[in-house]
Amino acid sequence: MNDHQMTPNREHDMTDTATTTPFTEPGTWVLEPKGRKAIVLRKGQTMTITDLEGQQVMDFIASMVDDPVERLSAMFTRVSNGMWDLKEGYTIYSDKCRPMFKVVADDNGIHNMTGGYCSKYSNSIRYGVEETWGCLDNLVGDWQELGLDETAINPDQCISLFMNIHHHADGRMEIVEPTTKPGDKIVLEALDDVYVGLSNCPEEHNPCNAFHVTPMEVTVA
Ligand SMILES: [Zn+2]
Repeated sequence: MNDHQMTPNREHDMTDTATTTPFTEPGTWVLEPKGRKAIVLRKGQTMTITDLEGQQVMDFIASMVDDPVERLSAMFTRVSNGMWDLKEGYTIYSDKCRPMFKVVADDNGIHNMTGGYCSKYSNSIRYGVEETWGCLDNLVGDWQELGLDETAINPDQCISLFMNIHHHADGRMEIVEPTTKPGDKIVLEALDDVYVGLSNCPEEHNPCNAFHVTPMEVTVA
């Protein structure tokens, strides 16, 4: 796996596999509301997620390039940092406790670290609506684009950037509106070669995105 090829503009090439890693060229992209993007970062690169208009959530999943079944783990990240939350200076770990990302800057400091993503299944049971487009659909699209096994995506693999959940003392969990202001960003440094799936959260049935989904920006540098 040491002969990684630089293959720009191949993100939509369905023949890409883990053996011909399609590392993403540095650049900036705007994800339209409910949009997605698949990215492959080299160790040392940074990924900046900017909430262009404020109060928008970006769900992201990740796996190791050298072993895609080794995934980002929200649970092991909490345990390894000894923190319920994700803050500047903290590390995001895999399910084998290898470091995957470091949070090098964070304007907002509020992220959902409980895992999970919105889906037609959760919207059906929670809100009685059927066949809605959710983060799971976007993340499946990202993994298919990267040639990875989308059936292996699991909720513990997901961190919801800027998602604001209040954990009440009586045990209630309440989704409230994000506190991000226009232009707030988080910068993650890849500590290994990693696959990343991004979903600009489509959820409109709860305050997750303040009932108004908006564009997000991602920069790879
Ligand atoms: Zn979502």
